[in-house]
Amino acid sequence: MARIIVPEAEELLDKEIKCLDKGFVRLVDYLGGDARIVQSARVSYGAGTKTVREDKGLINYLMKNDHTSPFEQVVLTFHCKMPIFVARQWVRHRTARLNEISGRYSVMKDEFYLPEADQVRLQSKNNKQGRSEETIPLDEAMALISKLEQSNADTYRDYEEMLKAGLARELARINLPLSLYTEWYWQIDLHNLFHFIHLRADAHAQFEIRVFALALAQCAKAVAPLAYEAFEEHRMHAVKFSRSECKALAAMLRGEEPELEEKPLAAFKSKLAKLDLA
Ligand SMILES: Cc1cc2nc3c(=O)[nH]c(=O)nc-3n(C[C@H](O)[C@H](O)[C@H](O)COP(=O)(O)OP(=O)(O)OC[C@H]3O[C@@H](n4cnc5c(N)ncnc54)[C@H](O)[C@@H]3O)c2cc1C
Repeated sequence: MARIIVPEAEELLDKEIKCLDKGFVRLVDYLGGDARIVQSARVSYGAGTKTVREDKGLINYLMKNDHTSPFEQVVLTFHCKMPIFVARQWVRHRTARLNEISGRYSVMKDEFYLPEADQVRLQSKNNKQGRSEETIPLDEAMALISKLEQSNADTYRDYEEMLKAGLARELARINLPLSLYTEWYWQIDLHNLFHFIHLRADAHAQFEIRVFALALAQCAKAVAPLAYEAFEEHRMHAVKFSRSECKALAAMLRGEEPELEEKPLAAFKSKLAKLDLA
């Protein structure tokens, strides 16, 4: 069977999608697309691609019913460059294969992430893991950015001095900060890429990794547009209710007050907000 060529993906190949101040996501290669998903799903009948409408219906059915394995038949390879603190979160997704630049072998470049002024925020009061929704005055933000920049410059100068003095690269690099940029080749199948995007493009994820998740989403959409549409429909923009939340929802529909404690009620209400009931 011929290799599947997807024109939208071909268009994206080797193009850097800029992320943050110095990072990028670049689609290096892909294997399969929507056609491969339907081919593999229909293998039991020995039939290949049918009409686009039927293919779309099948892909939608597979996604809706968590029939995930046909989506694993599509594989994407990326070259990505991100700050180390983003890489630390990224690497928690174990269902991918990667090869990263080695700070033992190479001299790390003088490239550090500096946030934009509007992303320099105070600690959130209601989200222990995140930053506040509110911005701070521009002069205060700029002063904090300068502080980060100065600290990066000092650390990198020390790094260079230690290298000059002959210290091993694997030791000289140990004080370099989490804002330093790293690079890797990252390969993942479409099912697990959707899982990554679902978690990391979400509003609960850190802004910086969300930027990368959205760039990866752009590539996934180009490679398998029908699958991406089904993912958006059944996972990305779907809302999951727990058993207690279903009871609370039923109570609300009966015109009664939902019986939930303060915190679960707040979580329930934030899910209802997604339903846009107004
Ligand atoms: C907003 C947010 C905040 C987070 N905060 C923290 C935090 O504070 N601390 C922290 O440590 N982590 C944190 N994480 C990371 C999180 O706990 C997960 O480790 C990460 O999101 C990867 O998810 P996963 O295990 O589903 O993905 P994957 O590793 O891609 O796994 C996908 C699926 O495969 C299964 N799987 C993968 N490998 C194996 C295996 N070897 N054996 C069996 N099954 C396997 C998984 O169970 C899962 O169902 C956070 C994640 C998010 C999105």
